[in-house]
Amino acid sequence: DHRIVIVGAGHAGGAAAIALRELGFAGEINLVGDETHLPYERPTLSKELLSGADSDPVHLADAERWKALDVRLTLGSEVTGIDRESRVVTLADGAALPFDTLILATGGRARRLDMPDHPRIHVLRTVDDARGLAAGAKPGAKAVIVGGGVIGLEAASTLVGMGLSATVLEAGDRLLGRNIPAEAAQWLADAHARIGVQVRLGRSVVSVMETGEALTVALDDGSTLDADLMVVGIGIVPCAEIAETAGLPVAGGVLVDANYRSLADDRIFAIGDLAVRTFGDEPTPRRMETWAHAQTSARAAALAILSRPAEPEPAPWFWTAQCGHMLQIVGDPAAGNTVVTRGDGVRLYVRNDILVGAVCLDQARDFGTAKRMIGKPLKLDAAADPSMDLRKAAA
Ligand code: FAD
Repeated sequence: DHRIVIVGAGHAGGAAAIALRELGFAGEINLVGDETHLPYERPTLSKELLSGADSDPVHLADAERWKALDVRLTLGSEVTGIDRESRVVTLADGAALPFDTLILATGGRARRLDMPDHPRIHVLRTVDDARGLAAGAKPGAKAVIVGGGVIGLEAASTLVGMGLSATVLEAGDRLLGRNIPAEAAQWLADAHARIGVQVRLGRSVVSVMETGEALTVALDDGSTLDADLMVVGIGIVPCAEIAETAGLPVAGGVLVDANYRSLADDRIFAIGDLAVRTFGDEPTPRRMETWAHAQTSARAAALAILSRPAEPEPAPWFWTAQCGHMLQIVGDPAAGNTVVTRGDGVRLYVRNDILVGAVCLDQARDFGTAKRMIGKPLKLDAAADPSMDLRKAAA
């Protein structure tokens, strides 16, 4: 008769409900989300869904399966409050849902420019955002993308594939500065140059003016760009307001331990993009905004809720697909003090002869091997020889 409420019916929230059932939880599961769509995965939103190659997002389960799993879905419903004393969450329509355990999986919303919304200025977080952008993206149109991170660059690549021209504005001194080593970021920068994307580094938007049928974007160096549409990809703002109001410790997201349990309330968990914790031996707690982390955090929380032993944590990994290339990253490349160059598309990051990170461009096989070898000793000479199977480099 244990009741679990999951707030946020996105990737992590949906995955948690499924994991709980797969692990044998037989109590009540209420999954509440403010989007009207069944829980879905976001990676295709900037790729196949935006380009039109897919017409629907990748759902975690269809309506029938949710029924079979006996998960009560309340969609199109925002949770507005958590009462930790009486253990209920309240919904915008005034309804109240009691819980014994609460999982917060509210992710983040797209950060916007500090200016009024405009129908030609898009963000890219939800399936509705992707469809709105696709509808406005006509061949021959000019797109200005704000932010040279993963989302901005994927959007630029897809829009160019749809026949638009694209200019990317990045405030930093290189692309992908937040999570991709400089050399691999350069591989992608070169790929963007080849498909005709204009990249302006060290530039930010000062103002956007409506000029007839289009926009004029003024930059901080005094120059202007014409744009038929803009895509703003400058990160997320965690949806942590209800947690904060309920008195849970929040710092860029909800602070949790390695089992995703809130530091202040052992009945409350936070998973996915919303969770903030220390990973590995990194000194500073942070969010991990990846598909894989939505999955692993959901499973780790489900195990903890069911008092089952934690599973060993896989090395963090993610991918990005742009300009016809697949870049995959595992571990923590920044922790390496030696870089092993393995042919054109593989870099292995090593610390004291231990593999701590890897970056692979269109090298799925090496990536699969590297993923299993993170944390293990590596023979550097063997690893540097691309004609040799990477598995043979295990020391
Ligand atoms: P979300 O999936 O955002 O789900 C949170 C849900 O909670 C949302 O539906 C939100 O509306 C809802 N919600 C928020 N507040 C409330 C409330 N108060 N009440 C009710 N509901 C609420 N990762 C990769 O590893 N590789 C990729 O290639 C990749 N591509 C991506 C492309 C795009 C365009 C985006 C946006 C993300 C991409 N990601 C990728 C990242 C990955 O999708 C996210 O890390 C993942 O979706 C996080 O899952 P989540 O459940 O924490 O958050």
